[in-house]
Amino acid sequence: MAADFYNDSLNARCSIPPLVNRKAKSGPTKVSAGGISFGGDEIVIIAGPCAVENHEQLSETAGIVKAGGASMLRGGAFKPRSSPYNFQGLGQEGILMLKEISRIHAIPFVTEVMDTRQVEFVAQHADMLQIGSRNMQNYPLLKEAGMSRKPILLKRGMMATIEEFLLAAEYILSQGNDQVILCERGIRTFEPTIRNTLDLNAVPMLKHMSHLPVIVDPSHGTGHSWMVPTMARAAVAAGADGLIMEVHYKPGEALCDGYQSLDPDDFRQLMTSLRKVAEATGRKIL
Ligand code: PEP
Ligand code: MN
Repeated sequence: MAADFYNDSLNARCSIPPLVNRKAKSGPTKVSAGGISFGGDEIVIIAGPCAVENHEQLSETAGIVKAGGASMLRGGAFKPRSSPYNFQGLGQEGILMLKEISRIHAIPFVTEVMDTRQVEFVAQHADMLQIGSRNMQNYPLLKEAGMSRKPILLKRGMMATIEEFLLAAEYILSQGNDQVILCERGIRTFEPTIRNTLDLNAVPMLKHMSHLPVIVDPSHGTGHSWMVPTMARAAVAAGADGLIMEVHYKPGEALCDGYQSLDPDDFRQLMTSLRKVAEATGRKIL
């Protein structure tokens, strides 16, 4: 199939892969994960710790995010850490912990897969598979995830163009799996005061080019917990179909990304203000 060239503004010329192209479908794709629908009128909030650390941490945090209005729990068990000396996650034990706690709190969960060898096990237990920024161009992993028939949360590579991001999603769709959610999580720029530059331009652009739902991660997109509420509201105002945010019951004790994790009070307050922003843009929070 020939690529469709996107060229409706002055400088932008980028090919849109055929299956992810908005023109390939008559309307937006709805992605269903654990009974939760992404890509409709309702904005979905995914929240939870960066990493699954232990039973108490996950259970307490799951209770807090569920009570605050999140529809899905996040938490990494296979963690892609920049340093091999940092906490690497609980692996399969963490997946089983997520499953148990997700059932107790009646909240479905998403968790990361880093390697093709993890896909079968994680797909058996999780409601949605996450492919992280560092693996956005891990083509065997994209194919394996596509073959799993599970919904996939695909995060933008930290140095990926929008075209490369869409091509990564195309790998999954080309396996016959159209249940893909695109997640903008910030890109690397010259700016050192923030962990990543949250590219909110990507939200309207991706929705313009593709039929897939688009969500935003303001936690990795800023790297500062105090900035997360502002950028979360901005993402909703920009048309995001959902947010994925790091929340920890005790951010000061987190083994991973505590500095960008919301505490329980911040999360509750943010949810209240997000509902108002959603309403102002004609949508609502699920
Ligand atoms: C995460 O969501 O836990 C994560 C590692 O994010 P990213 O892949 O965007 O860095
Ligand atoms: Mn993290």
